[in-house]
Amino acid sequence: MDILALGVGEAADADFPNSSVTVAEGGFRLLIDCGHSVPPVLWRTFADPEAVDAVVFTHRHPDHCFGLVPALIRWADDGRRKPLDLHVAADVRRHLELLFAAGGLDPERDLPFALTWRELEEEGSIGPFRVTTAPTRHAVPNWALRLEAGGKVFAYSGDGRPTGQSEALFRGADLLFHECLSVHAVPSQPHHACLDQLAAFPQDLGVGSMRLYHVWASERAALERACAGRPGLELARPGDRFVL
Ligand SMILES: [Zn+2]
Ligand SMILES: [Zn+2]
Repeated sequence: MDILALGVGEAADADFPNSSVTVAEGGFRLLIDCGHSVPPVLWRTFADPEAVDAVVFTHRHPDHCFGLVPALIRWADDGRRKPLDLHVAADVRRHLELLFAAGGLDPERDLPFALTWRELEEEGSIGPFRVTTAPTRHAVPNWALRLEAGGKVFAYSGDGRPTGQSEALFRGADLLFHECLSVHAVPSQPHHACLDQLAAFPQDLGVGSMRLYHVWASERAALERACAGRPGLELARPGDRFVL
């Protein structure tokens, strides 16, 4: 399993693109989330308009899905013919369809490739991956993801504080990407995780390695210091690549 971090930023990050990763296995590449600042890095990373086979969305916030319409338009312009599957919960599909309408994009009329909606469920599969999901505590429904293939496990939190269900989902992951806004809980941000809630995951959940993303710029230095000396726990950086 080949994981590449396209972006690790939070919603309004001046330095990093919005959080988004690709996960590849056996010639199949899945894009997780496509926020408003992701398309340029997506295009720079993958010149081939058919490089992505499917997209899955954790939730409907702009920093996780507002890049989809420009990505589709560029892939169409660049000659994509390969069908594309969108794996989404029902509420995300409704909002993405509004986004298409707002952007004047009718997928059936305007795209030279088939776009297929697939319902994201508690258990299912995407290409070669067995996929299970669990809710986190976020301002809108967010689905943390667990991808399994070839005996390896990659987990991705999307946004939100961990829940009992998401912690169970992450158990035993070889690599976990978890959002982490700050070192300590911030009262005004009840729907985002902090390091205090996550630091014990490697020991408690048997997580092999953990990368924190969606970090507040003002908290980066403090989080770097707090992660120092904790094996397997680091801040994610754009371009980070992991082969499991
Ligand atoms: Zn976000
Ligand atoms: Zn969010």
